[in-house]
Amino acid sequence: MILVLDASAFFAGLEPLALQKRAYTVPEVMEELKEEYRQLKARLAQESGLLEVRTPREKYMQLVKKAAEKTGDVAQLSRADMAVLALALEFASQGEEVTIVTDDYAVQNVAKLLKLRFSPVMEQGIRRRFRWYKRCVGCGRRYSASYASDTCEVCGAKVKARVKKR
Ligand SMILES: [Zn+2]
Repeated sequence: MILVLDASAFFAGLEPLALQKRAYTVPEVMEELKEEYRQLKARLAQESGLLEVRTPREKYMQLVKKAAEKTGDVAQLSRADMAVLALALEFASQGEEVTIVTDDYAVQNVAKLLKLRFSPVMEQGIRRRFRWYKRCVGCGRRYSASYASDTCEVCGAKVKARVKKR
């Protein structure tokens, strides 16, 4: 089973470092993850061999474009979305079992027409495996992630956000 991830999957809170299946995305999606923190995690996953970035062949881009024109979603789809669909289609044509992880309705619509499986991020169980909290760098006191101040109410030192793997 192969997962192909679109940009919405990352923005919906998909945790790239928790990927357990073969996962792919396209260069255009990596570019869309402009936010430093998300892109950093995606790159870490790539370097750790959890995520592979691949460009689909042009032939499949054309097939996706035609399908999106049919469903009327072509205006809603970015080039990154199309490339994600094209990569999934390419894998499917090679006989691979592939699922597109996406929360984007336009992508889901076109996937349906192309008979490609898709799944929202939630169902993949690769969300929220990391928990945020805050911790004082001085006395070590822990605060919830929603603690609004950036100084410790006990010792006055800086409070920093931390991430904890479940
Ligand atoms: Zn403190």
